[in-house]
Amino acid sequence: MSAIFEILDKDAGGRIGKLRTPHGVVETPTVMPVINPNIQLISPKEMRSFGAEILITNSYIIYRKEELRTVALEKGLHELLGFDGPIMTDSGSFQLSVYGSVEVTNEEILGFQEKIGSDIIVPLDIPTPPDVHFRRAEEELATTAERLEAARKFIQSKQLLAGPVQGSTYPELREKAASHLKDLNFEVYPLGAVVPLMESYRYAELVDVIAASKKGLSPTSPVHLFGAGHPMMFALAVALGCDLFDSAAYALYAKDGRYITSNGTYHLEKLNYLPCSCPVCFRYTAEELRKAKNKEELLGRHNLYATFAEIRLIKQSIKDGKLLELVEQRCRAHPKLLDGLKRLYTHSAWLEQFDPATKGTYFYCGPESASRPEVLRFGKRLERFSIEGSAIIRTSPVKGEKDYDRILTFKAPFGAFPAEMEEVYPFNAEVPKFPDYEALSTSLSNTIKLMDLNPGAEFTFICEKEFQHPLIEEIGKKAKLVYREAWKKE
Ligand SMILES: [Zn+2]
Repeated sequence: MSAIFEILDKDAGGRIGKLRTPHGVVETPTVMPVINPNIQLISPKEMRSFGAEILITNSYIIYRKEELRTVALEKGLHELLGFDGPIMTDSGSFQLSVYGSVEVTNEEILGFQEKIGSDIIVPLDIPTPPDVHFRRAEEELATTAERLEAARKFIQSKQLLAGPVQGSTYPELREKAASHLKDLNFEVYPLGAVVPLMESYRYAELVDVIAASKKGLSPTSPVHLFGAGHPMMFALAVALGCDLFDSAAYALYAKDGRYITSNGTYHLEKLNYLPCSCPVCFRYTAEELRKAKNKEELLGRHNLYATFAEIRLIKQSIKDGKLLELVEQRCRAHPKLLDGLKRLYTHSAWLEQFDPATKGTYFYCGPESASRPEVLRFGKRLERFSIEGSAIIRTSPVKGEKDYDRILTFKAPFGAFPAEMEEVYPFNAEVPKFPDYEALSTSLSNTIKLMDLNPGAEFTFICEKEFQHPLIEEIGKKAKLVYREAWKKE
């Protein structure tokens, strides 16, 4: 099991990993461009030039079309598509969700995928859409579970088998399903039926679905967010522990004249300028691109370049320990993504266990940063500071502080900590000079907690006049409260 997926770097819930398949190793997080076996906007063999390491196609479409099926069975899937790297195949579950039925059984489509040499095989699960009645979600989940158990017995080859996690918009069902599948030892875990949530920008619920599923799975298993192909939400999903995405979006959006960026989508018709320097945007102006005969193909190419550029940025951010800074930037591109960010941090206590103990300098990017796992961790570790005698708490050095037994630095959104630790992570954080309400809330309540933990010490708190917060009054009850202005005059 562990040999199939190896985690090399981590930040928050995100990771850089290596996924081993029969056709080679894939570095994650990554996106699998969706290849339509019938129509190809861009040929599979060209996909590597954009940064693709693995593709995904639909085995049900191949199975149903005689001329495709014959070639696939005789020469194999890789020969059919003209791509010698890893290829994942979907089973027809998507068609099942759209048309209500498919003309194939679970065993038939599993056997077919195995025969044509798919690298990651997907069983025919039931993709239960969001918002259905709990009973329906539960019943369909039971059918999915039976089919996945059958699939696990059926596929015993070196090919990887995916175990999709379903459960609609019920976090409890998602977590239950995931922990059941964990015991069946699948190699990859797709999170299914999330496309309707993404299409309607329900990012907060998407976050809950991902978090619940992840909580049920082993943290060392690779997770595929099935149907997620827009780069603007990749960073958020990666921070929650998603490793694989698949993009039909590059082609579907191109067909529709839509131009993808990591901060959203433009209609080519409305673009005066091309805000990108990929080979397409470097060569064409917006006007020329609109008039180009192969406009759709060119747009598809740009969309792929933009998609993989974001993946590379995410990977660099993980290396630098700056993934959450990137998530906070991206989630400001749309108010519904901001809902997603806020929901992400309601899971900070869970995320904290994966977040490295030391990493790149913490940057405060907005009120949500006050709820980051690092801040939460600091609050949990306050008992490590034992303070006795007289202690002064200030943001920066003040006259006469050496007369105190202990000097503590106050820094929002953390709180008060020994001044000698100022250069140590996370206290070397880059924070605004004027903390906002949220940063003051966490830092002042942590300071109160520190005072309560050390009842024997005598605290003096040097308060900045900008600190307007109801907890200041509370501090005043536990410490000698002096405003900096007044202190200077003493
Ligand atoms: Zn471009």
